[in-house]
Amino acid sequence: MTEAYINRPSPNFDARTRPIDLIVLHYTGMQDAETAIARLTDPAPVAGKYPGPWQSEDVLPDAALSRVSAHYVVDEAGKIYSLVPEEHRAWHAGASSWEGEGDVNARAIGIEIVNGGHDFGLPAFADAQIDAVIQLLKDIFERWPELNAKRVVGHSDVAPERKADPGEKFPWKRLADAGVSIWPEHVATQLDGDDIASDIQLQLGAIGYDVKQTGAMDNSTKAALVAFQRRFRPSDISGSADEETRFLLVAVAHVLA
Ligand SMILES: [Zn+2]
Repeated sequence: MTEAYINRPSPNFDARTRPIDLIVLHYTGMQDAETAIARLTDPAPVAGKYPGPWQSEDVLPDAALSRVSAHYVVDEAGKIYSLVPEEHRAWHAGASSWEGEGDVNARAIGIEIVNGGHDFGLPAFADAQIDAVIQLLKDIFERWPELNAKRVVGHSDVAPERKADPGEKFPWKRLADAGVSIWPEHVATQLDGDDIASDIQLQLGAIGYDVKQTGAMDNSTKAALVAFQRRFRPSDISGSADEETRFLLVAVAHVLA
């Protein structure tokens, strides 16, 4: 077990409608931990309190923002804040879908990792912070037997057309080496070049991504492919259906099978 979590209760939650079987990792995408925690615990957030690159400048200061939360926040020093008890549904994933189900919040534990994200130059994640995320995941796995390395995803996986967090700098490989996420192993396979778009849609769907089997590289398929690359091939997240990506899709589906 880690040292005790720091209690910063948020009123932004309601009842789960389904058992827990997923963990969603986020970056906060804000200036600092205190601003993020203030936003995640605010029962009536307004635009003027949270200025930043995510909103246009002509927005009225008293314009209501949506109420959001997460179960945990992990700051840069590795301090873990508990906002919502795991038993309740926190509001972190928004419109999202995984394995064919739309209400990701109902089934997920949400962890917000303090990092400015794409709006603030995509800073690197501190080692102490990642150590804390790994320890927190291990603690959660102990509390919920249905959770394990295969059940940890990024926000961009469940909302590829809207979200890019925790981002291509997040060290998924380090999490996998610590046993709390997956990483593809080499799989001996032959790529069949006949119907690449259909194959990619089948594999993305088997992994959990929300893609329709249209047989064409449509926008939602491409967005899911970018999300996949952010996690498993962060050196090139162009969404191109290149050979390395196609091999990795087979390998990840294989790890999850
Ligand atoms: Zn997020």
